[in-house]
Amino acid sequence: MQLTFFGVRGSYPIARPDNVRYGGNSTCLHLRMASGAEIILDGGSGIVNLGLEMMQREFAAGEGSATILVGHTHWDHILGYPFFLPFFVAGNSFRFVSAGQTGISIREILSGQHHDLHFPVPFEDLAANIQYDELSMGESLNLEGVKLTTFQLNHPGLTVAYRIEEEGAAVVIITDTARIHAARLGDNMGGPDPDPAFARRYTDRLTALCEGADLLVHDAHFMEHEIRDKEHWGHATGEDALRLAREAGVRRLALFHHAPEHNDTVVSQILQATRDLARRDDLEVTAAMEGATYHLGSSSEGELP
Ligand SMILES: [Zn+2]
Ligand SMILES: [Zn+2]
Repeated sequence: MQLTFFGVRGSYPIARPDNVRYGGNSTCLHLRMASGAEIILDGGSGIVNLGLEMMQREFAAGEGSATILVGHTHWDHILGYPFFLPFFVAGNSFRFVSAGQTGISIREILSGQHHDLHFPVPFEDLAANIQYDELSMGESLNLEGVKLTTFQLNHPGLTVAYRIEEEGAAVVIITDTARIHAARLGDNMGGPDPDPAFARRYTDRLTALCEGADLLVHDAHFMEHEIRDKEHWGHATGEDALRLAREAGVRRLALFHHAPEHNDTVVSQILQATRDLARRDDLEVTAAMEGATYHLGSSSEGELP
C-alpha cells in the first residue's frame, strides 16, 4: 500500500512562508491499496488539494469510488469536506466509516457544516452517492481484502485510531491522543481523573493495536516543555509517540498533527529530538510532510521521503 499526506497540521490550517516545508493544511491522508482501492482518512483542509488531484482522474467523470475513515469530527479534521469537489459529481461513490457517536449521526454532523449560517452550498447539492457505516469501537471490518481495526483514543469526544492491513503490511494512524496516565478524556473513558489500572489496560491494548506495524502515524503536537500544564488538552509529544512505537516494535514512525504555532524550524527540532532518543532503536523516525508518500509492504518497498 502507499500512503500520502495531504494535510499534517493540527488545530487549524495555516499559510505562512516559514511553514511551507512541512505544510500548513490540516489533517488528511490518502491510501492507495494494492488492490487499487482508495482510502481517505480525515477531511481537514488537506482534502481540498486531494479533491483537486482526484478531479484529474476518474472522479471528474463520476466514475470514482473511495472509502473515507473518520478519525473524529473536531473542526481541523472535517473543515475541508464542503470544498471536496468529487462530492459534487454524480456517479462518484463514497463510503464513510466512523464510530457511532451518541445521539447524532455522522451524516448530521457533516450536513451541519452546510447550514446556511456556515456555508452557502446546501448539503443536498452533493450529487455523489454517499453511504454511512458506523462501527462499534474495537470492531474490525473487511473491505475488499483490507482489514480495518478500530480503537478509541484518549481525546475529547469519540476519537478513533485505525489499523489498516493488507497483504502483510500494516499502518496505524493515531491523529490525536493524550497521555492516559495524566487524564482520561472522551466518551465512556470514565475520566477525568487518572486511574493507574485503567491506564495500564489502555496502554496494553493500544500497544497490541500497533504491534509490528510497518508505519505508525502519531500525534506529536506538543514539545515536552509545552505539555506540562496541557496534558488534558488531548495531545501528545514526540517522546510519547516514540515510547509507543518502541513498545509495539513498529518499523517507522511519522510524527503528525504539527501545531500551527510551530514553524518548520520547530518541527525539525521536534523530529531531531525524537531521533536522538531513538538512536539505539531499530526504528526510523520521520515527520509527516505534505505531499510525502510512504510505500509499505514487501511488494512495494520504497524509500522514505
Ligand atoms: Zn486534531
Ligand atoms: Zn481533536
